[in-house]
Amino acid sequence: MTDTTQNTRILLASRPHGEPTADNFHIERAPLPEPADGEVLLRTIYLSLDPYMRGRMNDAKSYAAPVELGSVMEGGTVSEVVESRDDSLEVGDLVLSHVGWQAYGVQPARHVRKLDPARAPISTAVGVLGMPGFTAYAGLLEIGRPQPGETVVVAAAAGPVGSAVGQIARIKGARAVGIAGGPDKVAWLEELGFDVALDHRSPTFRADLEAAVPDGIDVYFENVGGHVWDAVLPRLNTYARVPVCGLVAHYNETEPPAGPDRSSRLMAAILTKSITLRGFIQHEFVKARYRSFQEEVSSWIGDGSLRYREDIVEGLDNAPDAFFGLLTGKSFGKLLVQVGTDPTR
Ligand code: NDP
Repeated sequence: MTDTTQNTRILLASRPHGEPTADNFHIERAPLPEPADGEVLLRTIYLSLDPYMRGRMNDAKSYAAPVELGSVMEGGTVSEVVESRDDSLEVGDLVLSHVGWQAYGVQPARHVRKLDPARAPISTAVGVLGMPGFTAYAGLLEIGRPQPGETVVVAAAAGPVGSAVGQIARIKGARAVGIAGGPDKVAWLEELGFDVALDHRSPTFRADLEAAVPDGIDVYFENVGGHVWDAVLPRLNTYARVPVCGLVAHYNETEPPAGPDRSSRLMAAILTKSITLRGFIQHEFVKARYRSFQEEVSSWIGDGSLRYREDIVEGLDNAPDAFFGLLTGKSFGKLLVQVGTDPTR
């Protein structure tokens, strides 16, 4: 599948204003990169597409530096070592890497992590057993702290973060209410065992949410913002916890949303109901939680209490289109681009 004589790379050609378009990317063929001492040449098998990449396309100060114009779009990858100039890795090893949107890349060997295909399918290293799964686990348990019998609501619930949040909430004895776009995603959440699944595109969404949480909401795992947050806010209980994980409904905004400034209403709710709103970037919890995450989530996958779904798009050239779909709800499950052959399948 991969051309072994040259590289294919997708560069950031221009910065989007609002929704990203094909013009923002440039696909080019280039010579294969060469590893130096201590480095490995990697062949990309899976490229992970994630909402944070939209933020990296902006030239704005954030928790991570933007992708420079003319540079390869960044991204987590599952790769095979095809040349090694480090004793720790051999040709044929499968690794978690950060090669970005390209078919081949060079990385220092110390920056990649060897994967054991006997333990879990290698694609899960960028999904349920990787960054998105960890985000769900750490954000929910460190900030949400769901207690048995409490109600946990999660938005973007059919995505890799949200689907794990709802299932972990259930494992911890809480009621899980998932919010997703469209009947197929709602049906899948019901299949996963969510107590209630709601379609945020339904004209009756607000009333549906009210009916789904008769005792209010104790934990709201925020992945989207927008109209979902507007519907959730009045239903939050006293002492509710809100891990603010993502705001995908706002990532393409070019100016503040129309309408009155609602920050005073928000602050009054926080004050009078003693609500905790806490933003986080997953890596702050790596030291405290990564080991327990790997152990617990692997065992939950093993005993069937945590399930996941992948949406695999074939071919690196299709990455931009797949990425546009991720931001608008077209993807269903963890979105991956299959860039090269997976030797384990
Ligand atoms: P998903 O695969 O769930 O994709 C995002 C989903 O958001 C879409 O599929 C769509 O689902 C939903 N969505 C998009 N626009 C809207 C809207 N206007 N209203 C409601 N829902 C909308 O993404 P992930 O699971 O990878 O990530 C979920 C969130 O977590 C993102 O906000 C991401 O940025 C954040 N994140 C944060 C991290 C951190 O460290 N803080 C780390 C990783 C992710 P649907 O069809 O159901 O509407």
